[in-house]
Order: sequence, then structure tokens, then C-alpha cells
Amino acid sequence: MSGQFQAYQIGKSDEGQRCVLTQLSDNDLMEGDVTVDVEYTTLNYKDGLALTGRSPIIRKFPLTPGIDFSGTVSESSHSGFSAGDRVILNGFGVGEGHSGGYAQKARVSGDWLVALPEGLDTRHAMAIGTAGYTAMLSIMALEDHGINPGDGDILVTGASGGVGSVAVAILNRLGHRVVATTGRMNEKEFLIDLGAADVLDRADFSEKARPLGKELWSGAIDVAGGNTLANVLSQLKYGGAAAICGLAESMNLPTTVAPFILRGISMYGIDSVNAPISKRKIAWQRLASDLDLDLLDSLSFDLDFADLPQAAEDILAGKIRGRAVVKVP
Ligand code: NDP
Repeated sequence: MSGQFQAYQIGKSDEGQRCVLTQLSDNDLMEGDVTVDVEYTTLNYKDGLALTGRSPIIRKFPLTPGIDFSGTVSESSHSGFSAGDRVILNGFGVGEGHSGGYAQKARVSGDWLVALPEGLDTRHAMAIGTAGYTAMLSIMALEDHGINPGDGDILVTGASGGVGSVAVAILNRLGHRVVATTGRMNEKEFLIDLGAADVLDRADFSEKARPLGKELWSGAIDVAGGNTLANVLSQLKYGGAAAICGLAESMNLPTTVAPFILRGISMYGIDSVNAPISKRKIAWQRLASDLDLDLLDSLSFDLDFADLPQAAEDILAGKIRGRAVVKVP
């Protein structure tokens, strides 16, 4: 029936949070000046937290989860977009406080949308997704710090995951020597194929960090936090920098001031959700030009829309390799 569409919806009752696949109508769409026929979405770590209810990601009930999507504009009263435009949405609280990408339709503010850059299709956009775009923001932070190819090794933690795998692929393509850490040493070949020059066991980073370790990395991208990040900071070379984007190990950071005051290192916080639109546009343009699309294909896999709830458990258990692409039926 026209006006009806399939969507996941998360509701809340006294028994807790529950996610169901259901039919909604256009009347259920939230406020916004652009309506999008969603073509692809994806599964990020935050989606895993939202779907399972493991963390209070969803701030409004009932709500369609999915922090990012790509698709085609069907209606628009926003000056920047017209029907037929291909668009990407990630962040801005979509899938958290505003209904998101796990639906055939979404209505959002046009101010949150980025036009699909030339060179990418809507599937590529979600193979990249929030995770890949966060990898790009992290790389841009290291570049802004002044780190150039040839300056020394860049360490990427959680390298088999979404942010990590895309970061390894792009850094290598840009000419950096990349060292990857992983808890899945059986994925070593996968990481080498993506461009890692060396792969280290993340167990080497799991013990309490010494204030200063051996100077090994000119820069680092960290998705883990906790002891992993503390060890990375203690191993940064003089003047080095780490881009900090995740908490896959822990929210805590048990470090000391030593690497900051004795080696002049820097930490850059990476936020994908509220990054200004100008920065997003640059990041998506860079993704279109700096990421090898064959490698992107090799690090992404198709996930059925119907399998999202199970995959949410898997991503939190660290069982997802690379990036999941979900074709919205
Ligand atoms: P994934 O689950 O795809 O990847 C996370 C990876 O971290 C895992 O694959 C695993 O890699 C590693 N990991 C898991 N558990 C631990 C642990 N206990 N100690 C050390 N490493 C661990 O998630 P994403 O790549 O999508 O996201 C990564 C992190 O970045 C998450 O915390 C997410 O919330 C955050 N994030 C933040 C954003 C922001 O705006 N700041 C945006 C996007 C993501 P391996 O098996 O190779 O060790």
C-alpha cells in the first residue's frame, strides 16, 4: 500500500527496550525538509549498542535505529536538495534521537545531508559508513598535526574492525607505513592485504602502561581506549599524535602526563556525530579519492536487513570483520 514502508522500530516498556521489524506509514516519519528513499545502510558499533540496548543510545521512543544511510531524495523543500539527488547521511543524532536508516524511508533535515561525491555509488557510501568516515576524520587530524608519509610508522588499533580496516587501507594508499594491532591474529593476511606492513597482537597493549615506553609511532589511530590507548601514548615518538575515536576496550584512560610533558605528544578527539558539514564534505570527498574501491569491496560484506539484530550482538562481541553493507529491501 502506498505510504507504507518497512522499518525497524525500537520501543520501550517496563520490561525494557525491544526492537521489531514492522510496517510504518508516512505519518510516522519525523520532522524534516527532505524525504529519502533509503537504499543502503550499515552496522556500526553504536548501532550494535542501540539495537541490543546495551547502552542508552536511543533517546526517544519509538524510534527507527540506524546511524547512517544512503539513498535518493524523493521530496525536498530544502534549497540544497531536489528529488532524484543521491545523498549520504551520518550522525547528527540520527538513529539516536531522530529516526534513522533501518527503514525504507527517512525524513531528515537537509542540513544534515551530504551529496554523494562523484566516484562513489550509494553502496560504496555505506560500505564506508560512519566507521570509514571516522577513519578519514582521524587521518585528517593526523595530517593537520603535520604528520606526512615517510615521517614514521602509524599504528592503527582494532584494525580488523570497521574504523580500523578503512584506516589501514587509506593510510597505506597515502604512502604511510602502517602497523596494525588486532585481537584476531588469524586476520593477519587480511590486514596485510589491506596494506598493513606489520601486524601486532593486541595482547601486547593490554597490560597497564609504563609512563614512557620505547618511541615507536609517529602517529596513531585508536578505537580502543583503556590500557591499549595508554600503551599507544607511551610509545608515541617525540612530537607525535594520536587520533582518539573509540572505546571498544574501555571508556577509561589510565595514562600519566609523562608522554605529554616529556615528549610533547598530542591527542586529538574525533567526533563524527556533530562534525561541521564543511568538514564532512571534505572527508567524503577524500574518501572518494583516497580509498581504493577494490580494497573497499574486499573489506566489506553484504548483511541481510533481516539479520541486523543478530549482527548487532556480533559486532559488540568483536566478531564482525571490516564493514557490513545492508541493502534496504
Ligand atoms: P568494530 O566493532 O567494527 O571494531 C572495533 C574493533 O576494536 C574490533 O573489531 C576489535 O578489533 C577491537 N576491539 C574489540 N574489543 C577490544 C578490546 N577489548 N580491546 C582492544 N580492542 C578491541 O567497531 P567500529 O570500527 O565501528 O568502531 C570502533 C570504535 O570507534 C567503537 O568504540 C565505536 O563506538 C567508535 N566510533 C566512534 C566514532 C566517533 O564519532 N568518535 C564513530 C565511529 C565509531 P580487532 O579484533 O582487530 O582487535
